[in-house]
Amino acid sequence: MTPQNAGRLGSGSLVIATHNAGKLKEISALLEPYGVKCLSAGSLGLPEPAETGTTFVQNAMIKARAAAEAAGLPALADDSGLSVEALDGRPGVYTADWAERQWFEGDPGRDWYMAMGKVEGMLQAKGPDTPRGCAFHCVLAVAWPDGDSAVYEGKAPGTLTWPPRGEMGFGYDPVFVPEGMDKTFAEIDPAEKHRISHRADAFAKLVAEQFG
Ligand code: IMP
Repeated sequence: MTPQNAGRLGSGSLVIATHNAGKLKEISALLEPYGVKCLSAGSLGLPEPAETGTTFVQNAMIKARAAAEAAGLPALADDSGLSVEALDGRPGVYTADWAERQWFEGDPGRDWYMAMGKVEGMLQAKGPDTPRGCAFHCVLAVAWPDGDSAVYEGKAPGTLTWPPRGEMGFGYDPVFVPEGMDKTFAEIDPAEKHRISHRADAFAKLVAEQFG
């Protein structure tokens, strides 16, 4: 059955509901071949809503819907993170928060080594035989001003290794070994990562449904 909103993105304007310049550039480059004109939420002066959801889908939808309503245009938002099986899916929607060190005196910002160490510490506390399966998730949500929406979920399954390895990538890449490989996401060429990542999976689903 063809989903209700299939093909609806067409070739008009689309607000990318992110204030992150890197994400805007990456998403625009992926969608421009399909004739989509991408506008940034920042350039339109749209506010950033609080991400109060408890799932990736809820948070992506909060951001997409807020932008679509404020701009009167269709909007796309993403939400992503790492879910560790033995930790009941944590850090999940709190993946970036686990790297926050603003509670330490005088040195705000994100510390990814600390975040990776926190995950590792929790796994080790569960014992040496604790399974190390995990997955990166990426949810893309599209919202239209008339209330319609569509959601695309991407996943990159893998295992966690320790200590961290590799200099490329960002976030939790140095401890993530994708399924079927022995190198971490931080040790492989970025083009290879972009081919197999959770974001690639979600975008492939969006493109197939909207522009296929
Ligand atoms: P958000 O989607 O901007 O909320 O970010 C979620 C967080 O998940 C990021 O800050 C990263 O820590 C983590 N994350 C998402 N995708 C990746 C990835 O491809 N590699 C490493 N970490 C990631």
